[in-house]
Amino acid sequence: MRLELEDIKGGELEQEYSCSLSDFSDLIDIADDGGPKFSEPLQFQLRFQRTGQFVEVDGHLDAEVELKCGRCLLDFKQSLAESFALTFVPQRKDHETEEEVELKTGELGLIPYENDILELQEPLQEQLLMAVPISPVCKKSCRGLCPECGIDLNAVKCDCTRKPFNNKFNVLASIDVKKS
Ligand SMILES: [Zn+2]
Ligand SMILES: [Zn+2]
Repeated sequence: MRLELEDIKGGELEQEYSCSLSDFSDLIDIADDGGPKFSEPLQFQLRFQRTGQFVEVDGHLDAEVELKCGRCLLDFKQSLAESFALTFVPQRKDHETEEEVELKTGELGLIPYENDILELQEPLQEQLLMAVPISPVCKKSCRGLCPECGIDLNAVKCDCTRKPFNNKFNVLASIDVKKS
């Protein structure tokens, strides 16, 4: 999961990567902790463009991930297809300390590289995680669980959901509206 600067001949290079989970060890840990479970393979299409020491990357990822629906709490699979852009810049070691330089590049969304080698593993893993929806829902029409009895409303209907609505309606109806 690395590319040498000299491999970008003529300033441009297109690469496809078909990765396994073992290429991204954090993803295995995250799945073990109950987070999103990525399936294999994890696919990337990357187009590198080199301008001097700067390398711009136009990327696209395709992956499948197993998520837990935030409404009905069931696991479901979702395909992820995202485009992204990365910029690699040479790690400079001036009079500033290494840590200070790293902080600055991080703030600008730039990825520092050293010794003419682009390390792809971390930035690609980050893109995979950013592609995961924050509030996953199995389908737009998912009715979720009944807040009263906990039954899955996609499968069964229950009576308790009607009561709170009626109660609220009754309360509103009984409010004495005084006009001045
Ligand atoms: Zn659901
Ligand atoms: Zn219910």
